[in-house]
Amino acid sequence: RCKADGGHAYCFFTASMNKQLRENFQMEQALRRGLGRDNELLLHYQPRVDMHTGQILSLEALARWVHPDLGLLPPARFIPIAESSGLILNLGPLVLRQVCQQILHWREAGITPVPVAINLTTQELYKHNLVQDIQKTLDTFQIDPGLLEFEITESTAMRSMEDAIAILARMRAAGFKLSLDDFGTGYASMSYLSHLPVHGIKIDQSFITNLDQDNEHCGQAATIVKAMIGLGLNLDLEVVAEGVETLHQQQFLLDHQCVRGQGFLFSHPRPPEDIEPLLHTSARLLPQAEQQDQQRP
Ligand code: C2E
Ligand code: MG
Ligand code: MG
Ligand code: MG
Repeated sequence: RCKADGGHAYCFFTASMNKQLRENFQMEQALRRGLGRDNELLLHYQPRVDMHTGQILSLEALARWVHPDLGLLPPARFIPIAESSGLILNLGPLVLRQVCQQILHWREAGITPVPVAINLTTQELYKHNLVQDIQKTLDTFQIDPGLLEFEITESTAMRSMEDAIAILARMRAAGFKLSLDDFGTGYASMSYLSHLPVHGIKIDQSFITNLDQDNEHCGQAATIVKAMIGLGLNLDLEVVAEGVETLHQQQFLLDHQCVRGQGFLFSHPRPPEDIEPLLHTSARLLPQAEQQDQQRP
């Protein structure tokens, strides 16, 4: 019902707000049900490669949700809802168990497993007993902590720096590898990076994309990416470039000592059965034809 003095704008706003709230609520309910069922939450895996040799260094697990009506949904459609509703605290452990099962499956198939990276949101990182819970799951599956990496974004780490440092130090002591995701988007001062006990940074894909926008008059993206690589390497961190899509980007990164890359140029995120052949023997991932970049998963 409209307020008499509110006018049409007020009515319209309320109606669209209601619609948005209702949609979010429906998604939340569907996600809650989905997390209780088998097969609705899937993981795709994207290789991170040595761009010199094409060797697969590790995989990143990326969640997908098979919504009963809407089909396959990307994380942007459900991770924010999971985070705001608290459902992320159910989703996270499910992702971890699926990764452990996958590693076991590969091991049983005679494939030497490569480390798998798992993303953690803010709520997950600061959750009570995070490290103990992860360790319990690993014990159950008898998986070496060295096979797991965790990625947190710069803004998650900055939310509460002191706590983040303590938690990350505990994770590191437990044997996990840690990296700072979406690096460069958190607007943090550079000095803070040396205080965070992470093994590496992942340069956000927006900076890599901009490398192709540079021209002879303006090389801002190149300058920024070079500075980030230099900062990381000087702090003895592993530097990974995210979202590498073109040969030009690959060449630029290699020319500036950034050897590790992840992106559609090498592979889209793929279901585990499509990743498996790449893990056999000494498979190498060489750049795909650039026209394949138009395919979006
Ligand atoms: P992220 O961790 O920064 O993951 C990288 C994203 O970039 C992935 O999107 C990946 O598909 C995409 N990407 C990789 N290479 C390229 C490329 O060359 N070009 C372009 N345009 N994109 C590329 P995705 O799978 O949609 O995931 C989005 C975000 O959702 C992730 O960003 C991560 O923050 C979050 N996420 C995904 N899975 C999980 C999960 O299991 N748990 C949590 N907490 N967050 C997750
Ligand atoms: Mg990530
Ligand atoms: Mg990222
Ligand atoms: Mg991202």
